[in-house]
Amino acid sequence: MSVDVQPSHIDQIRQTNIGLVYRLIDQYGPISRIALSKKAQLAPASITKITRELIDAHLVKETEFPDLGFRGRPAVGLKVDSKGWQFLCIRIDEGRIVIGLRDLSGNLVVEKQSAFSVSLNYSFLDCIVNEIDNFFLCHQSALERLTAISITINAIVDPVNGVIHSSPYYDIHDLPLGKFLHQRTGLPIFLQHGIAAWTIAESLYGAGKNYQNLIQIVIDDNVGAGIMTAGQMLHAGNHSVVEIGHIQIEPNGEHCYCGNIGCLETVVGIKKILYKFHSQTEKQSDALTIDSLCQAAIDGDPRVTEIICDAGERIGRIMAIMVNIFNPERILIGSPLNSVKHILYPAIQQQIVQRSLPGYSQQVDIVATQFDNTGTLPAAALIKQALYNGELLLELMQG
Ligand SMILES: [Zn+2]
Repeated sequence: MSVDVQPSHIDQIRQTNIGLVYRLIDQYGPISRIALSKKAQLAPASITKITRELIDAHLVKETEFPDLGFRGRPAVGLKVDSKGWQFLCIRIDEGRIVIGLRDLSGNLVVEKQSAFSVSLNYSFLDCIVNEIDNFFLCHQSALERLTAISITINAIVDPVNGVIHSSPYYDIHDLPLGKFLHQRTGLPIFLQHGIAAWTIAESLYGAGKNYQNLIQIVIDDNVGAGIMTAGQMLHAGNHSVVEIGHIQIEPNGEHCYCGNIGCLETVVGIKKILYKFHSQTEKQSDALTIDSLCQAAIDGDPRVTEIICDAGERIGRIMAIMVNIFNPERILIGSPLNSVKHILYPAIQQQIVQRSLPGYSQQVDIVATQFDNTGTLPAAALIKQALYNGELLLELMQG
């Protein structure tokens, strides 16, 4: 077999190596070039070349650190240089938009939350542009060198092409948001489903840190999952995301915005759970919140306990299949129902134990996510991921 190295392969290797070196400097810095060479398993000459490029681009800097090196002199190490580099994180929820300005290390400079109500394609774009313009106007003094924009939304998206296909809240169809904002700003634009981005955030800094095989389930107004296998997000660099919320579980159920009927999301989404509770108790709907529902369960109301167990069992049946396919070490659950996890988790666990391979189900633990479902940290994680895989670094190095 002949080895035919295409130029694109060389570019890909260069990108991967730069991303790897940057990640190691970010995670272990200050770190010496020798230690970096060992951790990256790259030759010292390659490390010298890559770190030179990163230093020239002001993405990494040299620093003395107290770890004494040769002849008792302070060793010279490398750490990331995030000064002056900023990016914008945008989170679009139902009726709400959050915009955050962060430095390249992910630290928040300023964040602003506003009401957001639009319906049609064009007004949707106009409103986003308006919000961004307003944000810049209000926070001009905090602005330095803007490098990228990342956006999360709970909708059916194509992350590679930056397209929102459809949304449960906004009347939008195949909207090329990424292309539009790129043309307007000239910046790289990252778009991702909110749940996939949240899973990336948990794996980088939260309850999934140091786990190579993870499944995160989100049970909120949206129901969905993010899957990490062998340290990589499933569908990374692909046109799709994991869509467990759109598995049909009630063939005669409600219409879903995806076009089908009786999807998991239409049955166990938080709004549906509240509705179910409301229709059973005849309480005033405005008095009913997810917090009061959880409190009723904590106080031992058998009807609420039953509703939560039922949701847990339905989710557990789907999780059991996912456990057999992905054999995760850990399952993360992100939900306002985490305050009644003593009811929810055993219901999920029981289905997994009963329905999946014992060798797999015995080794998986179920824990709550570290972060809640607000703020722009998931969008920030997209930027971190694009730095670590080298994609954004190459763009920044080209100036
Ligand atoms: Zn659906």
